[in-house]
Amino acid sequence: MDLAWTDFLNSLVRDWRGRGQAEDQLGRVDWQAAFLAKWGFAAPVPAAAEDLAAGRRLRGVLLDLAERVAAGRGVDGDGLASLNAFMAAAPVQRRLVPQEDGGYRLDVGAASGGWTAVLGEVAAACAQTLAEMDPSRIRLCANPDCRWAFYDDTRNGGKRFCEPSTCGNLMRVRRFRRRRA
Ligand SMILES: [Zn+2]
Repeated sequence: MDLAWTDFLNSLVRDWRGRGQAEDQLGRVDWQAAFLAKWGFAAPVPAAAEDLAAGRRLRGVLLDLAERVAAGRGVDGDGLASLNAFMAAAPVQRRLVPQEDGGYRLDVGAASGGWTAVLGEVAAACAQTLAEMDPSRIRLCANPDCRWAFYDDTRNGGKRFCEPSTCGNLMRVRRFRRRRA
């Protein structure tokens, strides 16, 4: 299951076959546009250099956090402080919206646009996973060359790979070869 923050984290695409190449898609205009559209955010494309720098900082925070939590350790003080700082930089606004059936809906959204707001929402999505979902379901693909981040929403919580047909298969083949060697 994709969440806004795992999707953001996965903008750093590693070569799952282990050729050691990684592609940073965060700076790509097509990645930025697709990410904003997918999660309903609004911000200028292309992102400014300082927004990209902040985005890469946040991605580093999220990766460290995901690695810790996926390994069964808690979020450390630095991780908490960084996540809180990204959220504090992007104030939210509550809005009461009347509904057609006579009821009301409470909307909570960024008080301003731009990448600062987007990064705040991404940080908030991560905070929400830790606070309101099951943090023990946060995973990084068990292929050490891949490390794709995802939230395991399978019933038994046994999903270890981003894709069974790619990374799962590759790891199976490697295990088989090791046994034969
Ligand atoms: Zn993978």
